[in-house]
Formats: sequence, structure tokens, C-alpha cells
Amino acid sequence: MRTVHHKNKPLRLASVEITRRCNNRCVYCEHPKAEEDLHISRFSELLDELVSEDFEAVALGGGEPTLHPELPDFLEAIRGRGLKAGLTTNARDPEEVLRLADAGLLDTFGVSAGKGIWQRPVTHPAAVVNLLLLQKGLVQVMKWATESVRLGAGRLLLLGYKGSVSDFTPTTDELSEALLLLTCLGKKFGTAVAADDYTRRRLGLTTTCGEGFRRIDIYGRTDFCCFPECEYSPSAGSGNRPLISGNRPLSLPKGRRTLI
Ligand code: SF4
Repeated sequence: MRTVHHKNKPLRLASVEITRRCNNRCVYCEHPKAEEDLHISRFSELLDELVSEDFEAVALGGGEPTLHPELPDFLEAIRGRGLKAGLTTNARDPEEVLRLADAGLLDTFGVSAGKGIWQRPVTHPAAVVNLLLLQKGLVQVMKWATESVRLGAGRLLLLGYKGSVSDFTPTTDELSEALLLLTCLGKKFGTAVAADDYTRRRLGLTTTCGEGFRRIDIYGRTDFCCFPECEYSPSAGSGNRPLISGNRPLSLPKGRRTLI
């Protein structure tokens, strides 16, 4: 029996790269691409290790996890150990993701707005719409968000770009404005809105990120962040990448805990 997740304790979540295949070529993507898959036997060993370390949830990623031919077996292996299961998809095959969710194999899945047939699965109760903000991308994010809400999506997640190309990195003002506008949209239409730890850290809403998180790549190598180039990545060392102009963390006025 798994322990219940308590509100103040970060969820122990592992993100596992199960394939390096991808049928998209996003301009900002830095994930390595290859015809390589994680074997189910190695995955089972990894899961047993995660269970012994009290992990509570496993998210499958890549590459594009729906391209792994044994994806249902991977999810059954997760659920069979009493862990929560999730994945992130580029929605090139939304029907497969919906089939898995309807079969009870997914507690949650992230669908990336703007990719594939992303609108198709957004109303599923397990769906979270991922809104990636690139520099000068605020209008695009708000278009995706408005369309998601109009379709009936229940959850939106703002993700700030955290790769190595500084031209893609949103300014702190852009992140702040995006979270403010999305929060207003969510309040008006009853849609849950959240931001990733990176964005919250840039905005001064938290001082840490990735607590309880572990990233495991296809070769079993572990890290504490999916984005080694991120300025906050523990593997890169805090402050490793110089902050670009307009990319400085926001300081909130004394005594204020939120932006709005
Ligand atoms: S869908 Fe994901 S893995 Fe594929 S190219 Fe885009 S960001 Fe990279």
C-alpha cells in the first residue's frame, strides 16, 4: 500500500525517458533523437528501485512516449506497483492517449498546445494543457489558452522555456504577464491554472524547484532536472548560466506572496 501524499510534502515524482524517437521537430527542442527505446525489463528494475525509495508517481516522456511499442505494458507496470502514472504527449496520436486514459492506465497526461491534434484530448478529465512560453510568445500562449478554455479544458499549465537558447528565453515581464492573464482567464471560466517551478522561481513565488523530483534517461542516468541548461538546474550549479537582460528573478514587495 502506498503512502498518501500530504499537502505540504512534495510529490516524489520520477520522469523516465522511455524512447528517443519523436515524430515532431520542435525548433526549440534539445532532447536527443534516435531510434532507441528503453526495454521493459530495465524499466521494471527501475520501478522497483523507485518504490523502495518511496516514489509516488512516474511520468513517461521521451521523445514521444506514444511511439514506444510497449507503452501500455509500461503503464501497467507502474500502476501494478501502486504508483500514479502520467505522460506528456505531442498529440500526434491523441486517440492512443485517450484510449490509455479511458482504460484507467493514466492518472494524468500533459498535452502540448500547438502540437499535433492537441485540441482533441484537452477536455479529458486527466488532461493538462501545457502552454510553453517562448520569448515574444505571449500572444500565442493566450491564443492557445483561450482556445483550450473555449473547448472546455479543465487545467492549464504555464511552462517557461528553460533550454540553452537565450533568444527563446522569456523575460520575467513576459512570464509575469502570462501568469496574470492566465489566472484571470482561469478565474473567469473556472479553469485551474498553474505554473511550473521554473516560472514560479523566476517570479519570486518560490525559492526552490524540483523537490522530490528525479529525471531518469534511457540509459538509467539520473538527474534532478529535465533541463541541464536551466539556470537553476542542480547539475549545472545554481547560477551557472548568466542571466540575460530582462531575465532576472522578480522580487515581490515585502509581505506579498503572490503577484495578483
Ligand atoms: S515533441 Fe517533444 S521531444 Fe519531440 S521535438 Fe517536440 S519537444 Fe522535442
